[in-house]
Parts: sequence; C-alpha cells; structure tokens
Amino acid sequence: MQTKSKILLIVTAMLLVLGLATIINVALNFRDYSIKSAVDKAHMTANVVKDGLTAHMVNGVMDGRAYFLDQISNNEDVKSLWLVRSKNVIKQYGKGLNNEVSRDEIDDFVLENGIIRQEITENSSETTLRVTIPYKATTDGGNTNCLTCHDVKRGDTLGAVSMEFDISDMRTAGMFTIMKILGINLLFIVVVLILINKYVAPYTKLFANLQDGVTKAYSGDFTHKFITATAGEAKQLVEEMNTLFGKMQETFGNIKYDLATFIPSGDVSSNDPLQEAKSIIGELSDIYKFKKTIELDISKEIVYSRIVDILHNKYNIKHFALYEVHSAKSTRNLIYISEGESICSEIADKNSANCRAHRTKSDVISTEFPDLCKSCNSNGVDYICIPFSINQDAALVLSITGHSKEEINKVNCQMSSIKNYLEAAKPVIESRILMDKLRDTSLRDGMTGLYNRRFLEEFIDQVMSQTKREDETYSVMMLDVDFFKMVNDTYGHDVGDKVIVEIGKLLKESIRESDLAIRYGGEEFVVMLHNADDDGTMKIAQKIHEDFARLVFDVAVGETMQKTMSIGIAKFPNDGDTIWKCIKFADTALYVAKTTGRNKIVTYEPGMSDDENVR
Ligand code: GH3
Ligand code: MG
Ligand code: MG
Repeated sequence: MQTKSKILLIVTAMLLVLGLATIINVALNFRDYSIKSAVDKAHMTANVVKDGLTAHMVNGVMDGRAYFLDQISNNEDVKSLWLVRSKNVIKQYGKGLNNEVSRDEIDDFVLENGIIRQEITENSSETTLRVTIPYKATTDGGNTNCLTCHDVKRGDTLGAVSMEFDISDMRTAGMFTIMKILGINLLFIVVVLILINKYVAPYTKLFANLQDGVTKAYSGDFTHKFITATAGEAKQLVEEMNTLFGKMQETFGNIKYDLATFIPSGDVSSNDPLQEAKSIIGELSDIYKFKKTIELDISKEIVYSRIVDILHNKYNIKHFALYEVHSAKSTRNLIYISEGESICSEIADKNSANCRAHRTKSDVISTEFPDLCKSCNSNGVDYICIPFSINQDAALVLSITGHSKEEINKVNCQMSSIKNYLEAAKPVIESRILMDKLRDTSLRDGMTGLYNRRFLEEFIDQVMSQTKREDETYSVMMLDVDFFKMVNDTYGHDVGDKVIVEIGKLLKESIRESDLAIRYGGEEFVVMLHNADDDGTMKIAQKIHEDFARLVFDVAVGETMQKTMSIGIAKFPNDGDTIWKCIKFADTALYVAKTTGRNKIVTYEPGMSDDENVR
C-alpha cells in the first residue's frame, strides 16, 4: 500500500475512534443528565402530591383528592400516577379511591422498606421512568402531626405515590445530539483528509521517488532523476540528491571505463559499477602482485610454476596440463601436468601443428563439438585448450580437463581472467626466453667474453622493442683504440690481442648487469648503458677512457706501452628512433673524435651526420 494511503487510513481510523469515543461519552453523560433531571422532577412532583394530599387531609377534604391527582396526572410528562395505601392505613380507612392498593412489587418494596425506588424501562418506541416515593408518618411537619389522624407510630410508612414519566423525548433529543456530533465529526474527518491529501501528498510522492532512486542505486544504477513539486527544504534535498547521483554516475562510470582499459575483458558481468569496479580493482591488484613477483623470477620455469600455482589456488582447477611450443622446431613440450597422463597424444608433441588450439590460435572447447581435437584421447572427458602466443619463437597451450560439463562451463567463465594472468606473464616469459638465448655461447666473442656482432644483428631489435615498451633508454658508446694498427705492426698480433682482452675486462668491470658490452669488430667496441642520464653516461665514458689510458702493457723485455682510445656517444631513443640509427650516430661521433685529434670523447649532435636517415 502507498504511504499516502496508509497515512490517510491511519488518520481516518484515529479520527473515527476519537469521534466514537466522544459520541459514547456525550451519549452517556446526556442519558445520566436526562435521567437525573427526570428523577428530580419526579421527586418534586411526588412532594407536590404528598403536600397536596396532606393539605387535603388536614382540611378534611380528602374525598376531593381525585381532582387534585387528575390535575397532576394531566401534566404531559406524567404518564400515570397512583397512590398506594399501607396496610395500616387500609386497615384504618379502607382501600380508598380507585383501589389505592399496591400494584406491583415495587409498590410492595417501598411500603415494606420505606425507601424510594426508581426504574427505567426502555423499548423501541418509548422510554419510561418509574418512581415510587414513600410517605412516612411525621410529627414535626409544621402544623402537621400524622399521628393525630393515623393510628401508626412515627416513621411508619403510610403509603406511597407511584408515577410513570414518559422520557422518550429525552432519548430523541439525545439521539439528535449524537447525530449532530456524528455529522460534525464526519465533516471534520473529511476536511482533515482533504488537507492531508493536499499537504502530505507531495511529500509521500517525494518519499516514493526517493525510495525508487535508492533502490536503483543499490543495484548500481545512479541515473535516477529525483523530482518534487514542493518548495523549500524538500526541493533543496532533491537538488542535492540529483547532484550527488550525477557525480556518482560520472565517477563510477569513469572508474569502470578506466579500469576496463587495464583489463579489456574482465570476467565481471554485474551492472553495478561499484561492484564491477571492486571486482576489476581486485583482479588488477592480484595481477599486479603476480607481475611484481614474476619480474624477480630468474627463469621462465619459475614463472611457469607460478602460473600453475595460480590455476590451482586461485581458480581451483584440479586437472590441467601446460605445454610450451617451440615454433622453430614445431615441437611441443609438457611443462606441467596435475596428475596422471595427458589426454593429448604424442603426435601433437612431435608436431605442434597437430595441436588444434595452437594451430588455429583459438580456444578449443570439447563441449561445443564432439571429438573436436583429433590429437586428443579424451575418453569422454571434457576439455578446454587455450593457446597463448609468447613471441615468434614460443607459445603456450593450457589444456584443462573437467569431469563434468559444469566444471568445464565454470572454467569457460574464468577464461578471460586466466588469460589476463597469461598476458601479464607474457613479457616476463619473453624476456626470460631472450635471456636464455643470450647465454648461448655462439653470441659471445671468444677472446673477450663480450657479446659479438651476431648478437647485435639477431637480438638487439628484440631487446630494444622491450626497452621501448617499458619506456627505457640506452646510451650507446662506440669505442676504438687510437692507432691500433701500429701495435700490431710494431709489437705483433699477440700484443694487439692482449690489448683487446684487457679492453674486454675493463668494459665488464665498468658496466652494470643491465648494460650490454659488445665487441663490434677488431678493436672497436659498443657499450650500451641502460637508463643512464647524460651525466652518468659521460662519467662512465670518462672512467673507461682514463682507465684504459692508465693500462701499461709489457711489450718486450723492459719495454712497456700505453694506448688511448676515442669514444663516440649517442642516446637511444633521443637521437634516433632505432638502435641502429644510434649505433650509426655513435660511430659518427667517434669519427669526429678521430678526425679532431683522437683520445677524446665526443657526444653526437644533429648535423654531425650527412645521412641521418639510416635504418
Ligand atoms: P685509428 O686511430 O684511426 O683507429 O687507427 P687504427 O690504426 O686503430 O685504425 P683501425 O681502427 O682501422 O685499425 C684496426 C686494426 O685492428 C686493423 C686490424 O689489423 C686490427 N685488428 C682487427 N682485429 C684484430 C684482432 O683480433 N687482433 C689483433 N691483434 N688485431 C686486430
Ligand atoms: Mg682504431
Ligand atoms: Mg678500428
């Protein structure tokens, strides 16, 4: 029921109860008052009768009392009037006029006990008040001494006067009064209801409107517009609520879209932006922690084990296998299986093209089509295989099995969330795969142990693409020994080789783990300093330059040699948007150093190179 109807109903009920109580109260009071005045009137009449009769007796005209009594009986309120003689009086004077003897037990009672009795009789047509008043023998009633005429003792009941009064008028008047009160009450109720309707209705409407808006907000919809026809505080409240809801909608909507850019396909399906934001933030936070953890892991195997832990602990997936695909070899390795044997046959391991998920690069869900993957010996077990590409060389396949359709459907719902984790792990796995490759000896120079030119040719682009993604920088230094040919020519190749080995040692000592040192060719070296600013780059260049100049080489018995080097510097990506451009510009700067006196460090500046559009 609407609030307004409730209020109206309650007020009506209260007013009706109040009206009824008033009517009952008035009716009772009116009845009491009417009876009391009728009784008073009866007493007065009885006394008039008594005094009249006494006067008749004293004057010895007792026989004429009939006229007197008729006169009184003719009064319109007096229905009937009769006298009753006591036994003593009957004995002394006989039964009297019109048989003045007891007519009923009330008369008997009054004669017997000498006390007044009164009684009201009501029926549908009339109300009658019956009063019987005793006459007692007195000796001090002025000139009257009852004992002079009556043969009784003082205080004996001589008789009684009984009267019946018609008090129906009183009842009619009472009913009329009650009807008037009832009418006034009903009128009052109608007026009150009209006023309530007029003044309360806008507030009950507003209340219903507020309730509507809050219900929608509870389910995350803040688009509700509050309205009211009232002015003053209610209007202000409505305006404030509209502003608040507008802000909420904007804020939560923005949060939702902002967060959705972090997790493009989060597994949140609620319409409630708050709930959705909470869910996305929770997922983001978990993924962030996961990412931070795996970034410190030194091998891809550890990263794989973390993915396995997440699948077990967070998604509560019991049966699954994780494979790594080697694109170059087209083979597939089992990295982890939860228990037992894989449902995948070996033909997919020997030739990864037989793995449907890997080949089609799309999820394979057995519930969609029976016997979907021909390399699978599922034996009635349902499965979902998720392919995930890491880079050109490697990919993952996650094969999850379930013993019921519900289990598979549950995994299906979690799929986008699982992929978010794989996505977060991707750059780390990629970088660990790269690190593994970089450890390969074919990429190292045998004489110095530094990376060789092949490394530069094959991997520097991959390293740099990661650098660009992570918004990092490299300072490229190109180093070349001054007049090296002379060393070979003067002291022989062995001495020349020694110098090259010493430069290798010096470079390794001078750079950090994240920096790269490459023997570019002959006695020419490239050093790449990771995230070094201009000052830091210059300091390291100067240190290498000075340390090398201080090296003393034994070239013959008692004879030593010292050499200098020239260094050219360019910054990636400040000077050039590819690492090759920067290597070229560092070479240009080195050339400038060589042609302007050698034994110096020159930083590349635009304009030094004739051809700045190198690859
Ligand atoms: P510049 O100051 O202009 O650099 O003069 P330079 O004599 O050093 O000229 P350049 O850098 O062109 O000389 C390179 C020489 O390095 C040529 C080659 O004989 C020598 N060389 C290259 N590889 C090796 C090596 O592995 N061992 C030795 N001992 N010498 C090498
Ligand atoms: Mg040289
Ligand atoms: Mg050279």
